[in-house]
Amino acid sequence: MNISIVIPLYNEEESLPELFAWIKRVMEDNGFTYEVIFVNDGSTDGSWKVIEALCAKHREAVRGIKFRRNYGKSPALFCGFQAAQGDVVITMDADLQDSPDEIPELYRMITEEGYDLVSGWKKKRYDPLSKTIPTKLFNATARRVSGIKNLHDFNCGLKAYRKDVIKNIEVYGEMHRYIPYLAKNAGFTKIGEKVVHHQARKFGKTKFGGLNRFFNGYLDLISLWFLSTFGVKPMHFFGFLGSLMFIIGFIAVIIVGVSKLYAMSHGMPYRLVTDSPYFYLALTSMIIGTQLFVAGFLGELISRNSTERNKYQIEKTI
Ligand code: UDP
Ligand code: MG
Repeated sequence: MNISIVIPLYNEEESLPELFAWIKRVMEDNGFTYEVIFVNDGSTDGSWKVIEALCAKHREAVRGIKFRRNYGKSPALFCGFQAAQGDVVITMDADLQDSPDEIPELYRMITEEGYDLVSGWKKKRYDPLSKTIPTKLFNATARRVSGIKNLHDFNCGLKAYRKDVIKNIEVYGEMHRYIPYLAKNAGFTKIGEKVVHHQARKFGKTKFGGLNRFFNGYLDLISLWFLSTFGVKPMHFFGFLGSLMFIIGFIAVIIVGVSKLYAMSHGMPYRLVTDSPYFYLALTSMIIGTQLFVAGFLGELISRNSTERNKYQIEKTI
Protein backbone atom coordinates (compact mmCIF):
# COMPACT_ATOMS: atom_id res chain seq x y z
CA MET A 1 0.00 0.00 0.00
CA ASN A 2 1.34 3.43 -0.96
CA ILE A 3 -0.33 5.78 1.44
CA SER A 4 -2.11 5.76 4.79
CA ILE A 5 -3.94 8.91 5.70
CA VAL A 6 -4.50 9.37 9.41
CA ILE A 7 -7.21 11.82 10.38
CA PRO A 8 -7.82 12.62 14.05
CA LEU A 9 -11.18 14.21 14.60
CA TYR A 10 -13.33 15.55 17.34
CA ASN A 11 -16.86 16.64 16.43
CA GLU A 12 -16.36 17.20 12.73
CA GLU A 13 -19.40 15.45 11.26
CA GLU A 14 -20.14 18.09 8.62
CA SER A 15 -16.70 17.96 7.05
CA LEU A 16 -16.12 14.23 6.80
CA PRO A 17 -18.07 13.27 3.64
CA GLU A 18 -16.59 16.15 1.67
CA LEU A 19 -13.10 15.46 2.99
CA PHE A 20 -13.26 11.79 2.07
CA ALA A 21 -14.67 12.45 -1.39
CA TRP A 22 -11.83 14.89 -2.03
CA ILE A 23 -9.15 12.47 -0.83
CA LYS A 24 -10.63 9.68 -2.92
CA ARG A 25 -10.60 11.85 -6.02
CA VAL A 26 -6.95 12.80 -5.54
CA MET A 27 -5.90 9.23 -4.84
CA GLU A 28 -7.69 7.82 -7.86
CA ASP A 29 -6.39 10.53 -10.19
CA ASN A 30 -2.86 9.62 -9.15
CA GLY A 31 -3.34 5.88 -9.06
CA PHE A 32 -2.27 5.43 -5.43
CA THR A 33 -3.29 2.49 -3.31
CA TYR A 34 -4.40 3.95 0.00
CA GLU A 35 -6.35 3.72 3.21
CA VAL A 36 -7.95 6.49 5.24
CA ILE A 37 -7.91 5.93 8.99
CA PHE A 38 -10.40 8.10 10.82
CA VAL A 39 -9.66 8.29 14.52
CA ASN A 40 -12.76 9.49 16.29
CA ASP A 41 -11.48 11.10 19.46
CA GLY A 42 -14.64 10.73 21.56
CA SER A 43 -16.84 12.95 19.41
CA THR A 44 -20.21 13.76 20.91
CA ASP A 45 -21.87 14.55 17.59
CA GLY A 46 -22.68 12.18 14.74
CA SER A 47 -19.10 11.82 13.48
CA TRP A 48 -18.92 8.09 14.18
CA LYS A 49 -22.15 7.46 12.29
CA VAL A 50 -20.69 9.27 9.30
CA ILE A 51 -17.52 7.19 9.51
CA GLU A 52 -19.53 3.98 9.71
CA ALA A 53 -21.50 4.99 6.66
CA LEU A 54 -18.32 5.82 4.73
CA CYS A 55 -16.81 2.53 5.78
CA ALA A 56 -19.84 0.56 4.64
CA LYS A 57 -19.68 2.24 1.26
CA HIS A 58 -15.91 2.12 0.74
CA ARG A 59 -14.87 -0.97 2.60
CA GLU A 60 -11.43 -1.21 0.99
CA ALA A 61 -10.37 2.36 1.68
CA VAL A 62 -11.90 3.47 4.97
CA ARG A 63 -11.00 2.36 8.47
CA GLY A 64 -12.22 3.82 11.72
CA ILE A 65 -11.03 3.85 15.31
CA LYS A 66 -13.40 5.05 17.97
CA PHE A 67 -12.24 6.28 21.36
CA ARG A 68 -14.68 5.89 24.19
CA ARG A 69 -13.93 9.41 25.33
CA ASN A 70 -11.99 12.47 24.24
CA TYR A 71 -8.27 11.96 24.84
CA GLY A 72 -6.75 14.61 22.60
CA LYS A 73 -5.12 14.91 19.23
CA SER A 74 -1.83 13.20 20.20
CA PRO A 75 -3.38 9.98 21.48
CA ALA A 76 -5.57 9.92 18.36
CA LEU A 77 -2.50 10.25 16.14
CA PHE A 78 -0.68 7.60 18.13
CA CYS A 79 -3.41 5.02 17.60
CA GLY A 80 -3.76 5.97 13.95
CA PHE A 81 0.00 5.50 13.52
CA GLN A 82 -0.12 2.07 15.10
CA ALA A 83 -2.79 0.99 12.66
CA ALA A 84 -1.22 2.51 9.54
CA GLN A 85 0.09 0.14 6.87
CA GLY A 86 1.11 2.40 3.99
CA ASP A 87 4.72 3.11 3.01
CA VAL A 88 4.06 6.80 3.46
CA VAL A 89 1.82 8.04 6.23
CA ILE A 90 0.09 11.37 5.91
CA THR A 91 -1.70 13.12 8.73
CA MET A 92 -4.26 15.80 8.17
CA ASP A 93 -6.92 17.64 10.11
CA ALA A 94 -10.54 16.74 9.55
CA ASP A 95 -11.80 20.29 9.27
CA LEU A 96 -11.01 20.83 5.56
CA GLN A 97 -8.38 23.43 6.42
CA ASP A 98 -5.71 21.21 4.86
CA SER A 99 -5.99 20.39 1.20
CA PRO A 100 -5.73 16.77 -0.03
CA ASP A 101 -4.32 18.17 -3.27
CA GLU A 102 -0.95 18.42 -1.52
CA ILE A 103 -0.73 14.67 -1.05
CA PRO A 104 0.95 13.66 -4.34
CA GLU A 105 3.76 16.16 -3.90
CA LEU A 106 4.30 15.18 -0.25
CA TYR A 107 4.41 11.54 -1.32
CA ARG A 108 6.96 12.35 -3.99
CA MET A 109 9.19 14.22 -1.56
CA ILE A 110 9.28 11.22 0.77
CA THR A 111 9.74 8.52 -1.83
CA GLU A 112 11.95 10.32 -4.35
CA GLU A 113 13.80 13.02 -2.46
CA GLY A 114 14.40 10.76 0.51
CA TYR A 115 12.88 12.85 3.26
CA ASP A 116 11.96 11.13 6.51
CA LEU A 117 9.38 13.71 7.37
CA VAL A 118 7.88 16.58 5.42
CA SER A 119 5.90 19.15 7.33
CA GLY A 120 3.36 21.48 5.79
CA TRP A 121 3.90 25.19 6.15
CA LYS A 122 0.77 27.30 6.22
CA LYS A 123 2.58 30.30 4.84
CA LYS A 124 -0.63 32.16 4.30
CA ARG A 125 -2.90 31.29 7.16
CA TYR A 126 -6.61 31.77 7.49
CA ASP A 127 -6.91 31.82 11.23
CA PRO A 128 -7.63 34.72 13.60
CA LEU A 129 -4.71 36.84 14.83
CA SER A 130 -5.16 35.46 18.34
CA LYS A 131 -3.90 32.16 16.93
CA THR A 132 -1.29 33.29 14.45
CA ILE A 133 0.73 35.59 16.72
CA PRO A 134 1.27 33.08 19.55
CA THR A 135 2.10 30.53 16.86
CA LYS A 136 4.90 32.68 15.47
CA LEU A 137 6.50 32.99 18.90
CA PHE A 138 6.01 29.34 19.58
CA ASN A 139 7.65 28.30 16.33
CA ALA A 140 10.65 30.55 16.90
CA THR A 141 11.23 28.95 20.32
CA ALA A 142 10.69 25.45 19.03
CA ARG A 143 13.21 26.04 16.23
CA ARG A 144 15.84 27.16 18.71
CA VAL A 145 15.29 24.46 21.29
CA SER A 146 14.95 21.58 18.87
CA GLY A 147 17.74 22.68 16.56
CA ILE A 148 15.55 22.02 13.51
CA LYS A 149 16.27 25.34 11.90
CA ASN A 150 14.45 24.91 8.62
CA LEU A 151 10.91 24.43 9.92
CA HIS A 152 8.54 27.38 10.02
CA ASP A 153 5.43 25.59 11.17
CA PHE A 154 5.90 22.78 13.69
CA ASN A 155 2.25 22.34 14.47
CA CYS A 156 0.83 22.05 10.95
CA GLY A 157 -1.69 19.22 10.87
CA LEU A 158 -0.66 18.22 7.37
CA LYS A 159 2.52 16.19 7.46
CA ALA A 160 3.97 13.22 5.65
CA TYR A 161 6.20 10.55 7.15
CA ARG A 162 8.17 7.58 6.03
CA LYS A 163 6.56 4.57 7.71
CA ASP A 164 9.66 3.90 9.86
CA VAL A 165 9.30 7.27 11.50
CA ILE A 166 5.80 6.88 12.84
CA LYS A 167 6.41 3.31 13.97
CA ASN A 168 9.40 4.45 16.03
CA ILE A 169 8.16 7.54 17.81
CA GLU A 170 5.67 7.80 20.59
CA VAL A 171 3.31 10.75 20.42
CA TYR A 172 1.66 11.26 23.79
CA GLY A 173 0.12 14.00 25.93
CA GLU A 174 0.05 17.05 23.68
CA MET A 175 3.28 16.27 21.90
CA HIS A 176 1.68 16.42 18.45
CA ARG A 177 3.03 19.96 18.35
CA TYR A 178 6.55 18.63 18.39
CA ILE A 179 6.49 15.56 16.21
CA PRO A 180 9.45 16.81 14.14
CA TYR A 181 11.44 17.13 17.37
CA LEU A 182 10.41 13.64 18.46
CA ALA A 183 11.48 12.34 15.07
CA LYS A 184 14.80 14.11 15.29
CA ASN A 185 15.44 12.65 18.74
CA ALA A 186 14.74 9.21 17.33
CA GLY A 187 17.44 9.79 14.72
CA PHE A 188 15.37 10.82 11.70
CA THR A 189 17.16 13.91 10.59
CA LYS A 190 16.10 14.48 7.02
CA ILE A 191 13.24 16.79 7.81
CA GLY A 192 11.78 19.00 5.11
CA GLU A 193 9.04 21.45 4.56
CA LYS A 194 6.52 22.23 1.89
CA VAL A 195 4.38 25.33 1.58
CA VAL A 196 0.75 24.22 1.67
CA HIS A 197 -2.56 25.89 1.01
CA HIS A 198 -4.66 26.64 4.01
CA GLN A 199 -8.32 27.51 4.16
CA ALA A 200 -10.57 29.05 6.72
CA ARG A 201 -12.50 26.56 8.79
CA LYS A 202 -15.69 25.74 6.92
CA PHE A 203 -17.73 24.08 9.66
CA GLY A 204 -17.63 24.15 13.44
CA LYS A 205 -14.97 25.94 15.40
CA THR A 206 -11.41 25.38 16.56
CA LYS A 207 -10.76 22.82 19.27
CA PHE A 208 -7.61 24.52 20.45
CA GLY A 209 -8.52 27.95 21.78
CA GLY A 210 -7.49 29.70 24.92
CA LEU A 211 -4.33 30.65 26.68
CA ASN A 212 -3.41 27.43 28.38
CA ARG A 213 -2.53 25.89 25.04
CA PHE A 214 0.25 28.42 24.99
CA PHE A 215 1.68 27.68 28.43
CA ASN A 216 1.26 23.95 28.09
CA GLY A 217 2.99 24.16 24.75
CA TYR A 218 6.06 25.71 26.33
CA LEU A 219 6.09 23.33 29.27
CA ASP A 220 5.97 20.42 26.85
CA LEU A 221 8.86 21.87 24.93
CA ILE A 222 10.91 22.13 28.12
CA SER A 223 10.10 18.51 29.04
CA LEU A 224 11.10 17.32 25.62
CA TRP A 225 14.32 19.26 25.71
CA PHE A 226 15.11 17.88 29.15
CA LEU A 227 14.25 14.32 28.16
CA SER A 228 16.28 14.43 25.01
CA THR A 229 19.36 15.98 26.61
CA PHE A 230 19.35 14.49 30.12
CA GLY A 231 16.71 11.76 29.98
CA VAL A 232 19.21 8.92 30.32
CA LYS A 233 21.74 10.81 32.42
CA PRO A 234 19.83 13.02 34.85
CA MET A 235 22.85 13.20 37.14
CA HIS A 236 24.67 15.28 34.57
CA PHE A 237 22.08 17.97 34.97
CA PHE A 238 21.35 17.86 38.68
CA GLY A 239 24.87 16.93 39.63
CA PHE A 240 26.28 19.94 37.83
CA LEU A 241 23.83 22.38 39.39
CA GLY A 242 24.23 20.71 42.78
CA SER A 243 28.01 20.93 42.69
CA LEU A 244 27.85 24.54 41.64
CA MET A 245 25.59 25.45 44.54
CA PHE A 246 27.68 23.44 46.96
CA ILE A 247 30.87 25.14 45.88
CA ILE A 248 29.31 28.57 46.26
CA GLY A 249 28.17 27.60 49.75
CA PHE A 250 31.57 26.22 50.63
CA ILE A 251 33.36 29.36 49.53
CA ALA A 252 30.96 31.42 51.62
CA VAL A 253 31.71 29.22 54.66
CA ILE A 254 35.43 29.78 54.20
CA ILE A 255 34.92 33.50 53.98
CA VAL A 256 32.83 33.57 57.15
CA GLY A 257 35.17 31.27 59.10
CA VAL A 258 38.45 32.76 58.01
CA SER A 259 37.37 36.36 58.51
CA LYS A 260 36.20 35.59 62.02
CA LEU A 261 39.40 33.74 62.94
CA TYR A 262 41.46 36.53 61.43
CA ALA A 263 39.61 39.17 63.43
CA MET A 264 39.94 37.14 66.65
CA SER A 265 43.66 36.49 66.30
CA HIS A 266 44.42 40.15 65.55
CA GLY A 267 42.44 41.44 68.49
CA MET A 268 39.96 43.22 66.24
CA PRO A 269 36.26 43.49 67.10
CA TYR A 270 34.35 40.52 65.75
CA ARG A 271 30.77 39.40 65.63
CA LEU A 272 28.77 36.20 65.66
CA VAL A 273 28.92 34.28 62.38
CA THR A 274 25.12 34.35 62.28
CA ASP A 275 25.31 38.12 61.92
CA SER A 276 27.04 37.79 58.59
CA PRO A 277 24.96 37.58 55.39
CA TYR A 278 27.50 35.07 54.04
CA PHE A 279 26.45 32.67 56.72
CA TYR A 280 22.93 32.46 55.32
CA LEU A 281 24.19 32.34 51.79
CA ALA A 282 26.41 29.41 52.70
CA LEU A 283 23.61 27.63 54.53
CA THR A 284 21.06 27.84 51.73
CA SER A 285 23.51 27.08 48.94
CA MET A 286 24.84 24.00 50.63
CA ILE A 287 21.38 22.70 51.43
CA ILE A 288 20.10 23.34 47.92
CA GLY A 289 23.26 21.86 46.46
CA THR A 290 22.84 18.65 48.43
CA GLN A 291 19.19 18.41 47.47
CA LEU A 292 19.96 18.81 43.80
CA PHE A 293 22.52 16.06 44.13
CA VAL A 294 19.96 13.81 45.75
CA ALA A 295 17.50 14.65 42.96
CA GLY A 296 20.18 13.56 40.50
CA PHE A 297 20.66 10.22 42.26
CA LEU A 298 16.92 9.66 42.39
CA GLY A 299 16.69 10.51 38.69
CA GLU A 300 19.39 7.94 37.95
CA LEU A 301 17.61 5.29 40.00
CA ILE A 302 14.38 5.98 38.15
CA SER A 303 15.99 5.92 34.74
CA ARG A 304 17.79 2.65 35.57
CA ASN A 305 14.43 1.10 36.32
CA SER A 306 12.56 2.45 33.35
CA THR A 307 11.48 -0.02 30.72
CA GLU A 308 12.85 2.38 28.12
CA ARG A 309 16.39 2.28 29.45
CA ASN A 310 17.65 -0.03 26.76
CA LYS A 311 15.42 1.01 23.93
CA TYR A 312 17.64 2.21 21.14
CA GLN A 313 16.82 3.05 17.59
CA ILE A 314 18.40 0.33 15.49
CA GLU A 315 18.17 1.14 11.84
CA LYS A 316 19.55 -2.10 10.41
CA THR A 317 21.10 -5.40 11.37
CA ILE A 318 22.52 -7.76 8.79
N1 UDP B 1 -8.88 17.14 17.36
C1 UDP B 1 -8.90 15.91 17.97
N2 UDP B 1 -9.03 15.83 19.34
C2 UDP B 1 -9.12 16.95 20.12
C3 UDP B 1 -9.06 18.22 19.49
C4 UDP B 1 -8.93 18.27 18.11
O1 UDP B 1 -8.83 14.87 17.30
O2 UDP B 1 -9.25 16.83 21.33
C5 UDP B 1 -8.75 17.23 15.89
C6 UDP B 1 -9.77 18.12 15.24
O3 UDP B 1 -11.00 17.48 15.04
C7 UDP B 1 -9.09 18.47 13.93
C8 UDP B 1 -7.62 18.53 14.35
O4 UDP B 1 -7.51 17.82 15.58
O5 UDP B 1 -9.26 17.46 12.97
C9 UDP B 1 -7.14 19.97 14.50
O6 UDP B 1 -8.01 20.70 15.33
P1 UDP B 1 -8.49 22.18 15.01
O7 UDP B 1 -8.80 22.31 13.56
O8 UDP B 1 -9.58 22.53 15.97
O9 UDP B 1 -7.19 22.99 15.36
P2 UDP B 1 -6.70 24.34 14.64
O10 UDP B 1 -6.68 24.07 13.16
O11 UDP B 1 -7.70 25.38 15.00
O12 UDP B 1 -5.34 24.57 15.22
MG1 MG C 1 -8.16 23.42 12.03
